[in-house]
Amino acid sequence: MPELPEVETVRRGLMELIGKEILAVELNRADLRYPFPEDMDAIAGRKIIAIDRRAKYLLIRLENDLTWLAHLGMTGRFGKTLEGKHDHVVIDFVDGSRLVYTDPRRFGIMDLIHGGNEHKLLNHLGPEPFGSEWNGTILHSSLQGRNISIKSALLDQKIVVGIGNIYASEILFRAGVSPNRLAKNISKKKAECIYNETQNVLCAAIEAGGSTLRDGQFKQIDGNLGYFPHEFAVYDREGESCTSVECTNFIQRVVQSGRSTFYCSQCQS
Ligand SMILES: [Zn+2]
Repeated sequence: MPELPEVETVRRGLMELIGKEILAVELNRADLRYPFPEDMDAIAGRKIIAIDRRAKYLLIRLENDLTWLAHLGMTGRFGKTLEGKHDHVVIDFVDGSRLVYTDPRRFGIMDLIHGGNEHKLLNHLGPEPFGSEWNGTILHSSLQGRNISIKSALLDQKIVVGIGNIYASEILFRAGVSPNRLAKNISKKKAECIYNETQNVLCAAIEAGGSTLRDGQFKQIDGNLGYFPHEFAVYDREGESCTSVECTNFIQRVVQSGRSTFYCSQCQS
């Protein structure tokens, strides 16, 4: 499932569309996770003026205060050419170029916001990891009294948005914090450390174009893969040697809330 670095990678890839005018939109089915908005055609005849991101939602800003909201779900991706039967949305631009939304599992979401930024899916989201409304102190206070593991807390989109299974494992390894530790027992110093490693991991992942896993689902707009898996310290490395220089331990996998977590029990406490 795409996490913040993958969505941000897609956003950056879509930036080349700014200034282009949409000629026509073709929907090849009635719905993705939800039905398409009835007036999806309203995007035609407008130029793309900006492309923003909030959590894992892409906000494609069009002329006359219309925003096209898109979420990639589990397997959604944007590309420039037709791929086959999972191409659900095809956008043709006046200049002859094309944008295709492909989504085999159809958990993606598309909607329109007529004026402003208010949308039910955006209203209850927590702070952005790179925003000024989040830091180690705020993270620490949001963990107070929480009887859940720190791994589960990092996946809670009210605590911070955009972190999923891959990056939570990587952040906690780099911070030296066990994923099993209860959120309420994270010290202020450790919360600061988790905050810093969140910045480091997410920045490095965006720099690498995100993470394409073995399922091959995630691709950049131009079809390139995301190369961050080459830098995974723990994710999907069960049974392999720990990458810390002085550690002779092996990476372990535990299941938390039905999701795999990878960690080193020597390096993380
Ligand atoms: Zn280790």
